[in-house]
Amino acid sequence: MKRAFLALIAAIACSASGFAENPIASPTRVVVLGTGTPSADPERWGPAVAVVVNDRAYLIDCGPGVVRRAAGAERNGIAALRAKELKIVFITHLHSDHTLGYPDLIFSPWVLGRREALEAYGPHGLKNMTSHIEKAWTEDVRVRREGLEQANATGYKVNVHEIQPGVVYRDSNVTVTAFLVRHGIWKEAYGYKFETRDRKIVVSGDTAPTDEVVKACDGCDVLLHEVYNPRGSELQDAHWKEYFRTFHTSPAELGEIARRAHPKLLVVYHQVLERLPESDLVEQIEKEYSGKWVSARDLGVY
Ligand SMILES: [Zn+2]
Ligand SMILES: [Zn+2]
Repeated sequence: MKRAFLALIAAIACSASGFAENPIASPTRVVVLGTGTPSADPERWGPAVAVVVNDRAYLIDCGPGVVRRAAGAERNGIAALRAKELKIVFITHLHSDHTLGYPDLIFSPWVLGRREALEAYGPHGLKNMTSHIEKAWTEDVRVRREGLEQANATGYKVNVHEIQPGVVYRDSNVTVTAFLVRHGIWKEAYGYKFETRDRKIVVSGDTAPTDEVVKACDGCDVLLHEVYNPRGSELQDAHWKEYFRTFHTSPAELGEIARRAHPKLLVVYHQVLERLPESDLVEQIEKEYSGKWVSARDLGVY
């Protein structure tokens, strides 16, 4: 009886502070860790995004600098991105700009105290890549475990999950669905949809325009989509024109995709700037899309 009364008082207190209307402890956030491409732009580190929900981080891709960018987000107040909490990643495709931070994500959090194996989801070929990385750093693992560093015996391991389209992961925070996108001659390149209690988030990965993104988003809260600038000097060459046409998405194509997908917020990332200022690309997207959108910067939270 007494317990029921206390529960009632607690419910009233929660209601007064608004918790009863919004029972989500920590609304889902999207943290863009890196917006970059293969270009060695010091302002834009390798592509990596984190969906953060209830103090857990779910990474998408691991471009160069991923662990340091996560530490930057931690410094900005997002505790879920501290190094030893980086435990799960969904890789869109195996292009090096998206995976050069994979060894970083395997080993650095372990050195910094992670005990759990990394859970890595991605296309076929990820097992092969992982086993080569494990072989390459065998001696490092031996020295850290057997020497005075006394590193733990588990945190450098990886559980690799080679996926197919469909639901690939589910826990109490999130359901993750993978869908195939069109990225030139890559046999498997994925986009991902994250559904949490309060938000639906879609990440295109690298892709030419595809209906799969439209279907996955379908009025989603946040759509992260790549784009390239067709005014770049390289693009005047027929060969490169063909490359970009089959591997990536132009501002005009992005505008059409976004109009059909109608996200509440479009976050443009992995901006292939082609040595032109970001403002040049922004101007083109503005002409093509009148919905709410933003050109992402590293460490932007949406
Ligand atoms: Zn890329
Ligand atoms: Zn790519």
